Amino acid sequence: MIYLDHNATTPVRPEVVDAMLPYLRESYGNPNSVHQLGQRSRKAIEAAREHVAALIGAFPDEIVFTSCGSESDALAIQGAAEERRRATDGHKNHVVTSAVEHEAVVQTCAELEKRGFEVTKVACDNTGRLKPADVAAAIRPETAVVSVMWANNELGTLEPVEEIGKICKAAPVLFHSDAVQAVGKVPVDVNAANVSLLSLSGHKLNAPKGVAALYVRRGVVLAPLVTGNQERARRGGTENVASIVGLGEACRLWKDEQAAHRKHLERLRKHLIAGLESIEGCRINGNPDHHLPNTVHVCFDGVDGAQTVVALDLAGFCVSSGSACASGSTDPGHVMSAIGYTANQCRGAIRVSIGWGTTEQDLDAFVEAAQGALSKLRKVSV
Ligand code: PLP
Repeated sequence: MIYLDHNATTPVRPEVVDAMLPYLRESYGNPNSVHQLGQRSRKAIEAAREHVAALIGAFPDEIVFTSCGSESDALAIQGAAEERRRATDGHKNHVVTSAVEHEAVVQTCAELEKRGFEVTKVACDNTGRLKPADVAAAIRPETAVVSVMWANNELGTLEPVEEIGKICKAAPVLFHSDAVQAVGKVPVDVNAANVSLLSLSGHKLNAPKGVAALYVRRGVVLAPLVTGNQERARRGGTENVASIVGLGEACRLWKDEQAAHRKHLERLRKHLIAGLESIEGCRINGNPDHHLPNTVHVCFDGVDGAQTVVALDLAGFCVSSGSACASGSTDPGHVMSAIGYTANQCRGAIRVSIGWGTTEQDLDAFVEAAQGALSKLRKVSV
């Protein structure tokens, strides 16, 4: 089985598993206990916090551990919006976001609308990229928070977060970025981008599922989703020690290896695109200049994306049709709609996302399998 679906989730690196195991076996203490066993867990969590902070240029006390990227997004946007509205006697009741966000952000914004907030969704161009001036135009005196993703999970397009950060700083307004698909793959620096809040998730960077973090800039106050004293009262609940250790180890590894890995992925991505372009009726989507080094979103004419995914699965390759979160749907999805595609135009869309462990041979085998699968499917659909 060749795994080419790293934007859906990634394999856990063996070094990460090794770092976690002691905290699943002998070091099971509650980090909030005063005895030695508890304090061993506390120490491990604080070391992990330092590794996560170091990867994104933050202070350790600015890192809040959560259960998933979706929770980080909800805590950032809902927590900031509710707190700003409360602190301004209802004046700050507006949120700015984009038309291409992940469902975690889309649904959080929908929930805020139900609670009486107004939400403005900034449109993008036909590659999925926003214009910073459009974000600036959407900000009003009542805006509580702006949320724009760092990298799009379906198309791989990178958003102009540094320019948007400058605009938010000057406004001034809180700026959240969902960097779940970016951290580990491209350099992410919270200060260069002037973000107030930033989400990342373990299972997208070779740590386990069910652990994530939210960066909260010093001085930014959030209304918590889960009350309790843990994580400086920003996220209650006994910490998931082993998984937090795994997230810390993955961040430590990426800090050392990111530059070399990124170059390797860029080379592989070019190789894959060259192979795919040799197939008739193939269109590569996303931004040609601003993209993740690992993601290729492609439309094949005359086939169904979901059927192509099944055919490739039978041939031993894991890829995704559009977003993993929306697969199985006949709807083009909000991201493809935002870049101007109808359901028919993106019927044959698949997403190939490479990562740690992918080789050039894997991609050559994939292109060959895709050629075979497509010619069979096209014959059937004639
Ligand atoms: N944001 C983006 C851009 C994502 O791609 C994902 C997951 O696919 C999430 C948020 C949600 O992260 P999690 O699966 O950890 O909840």
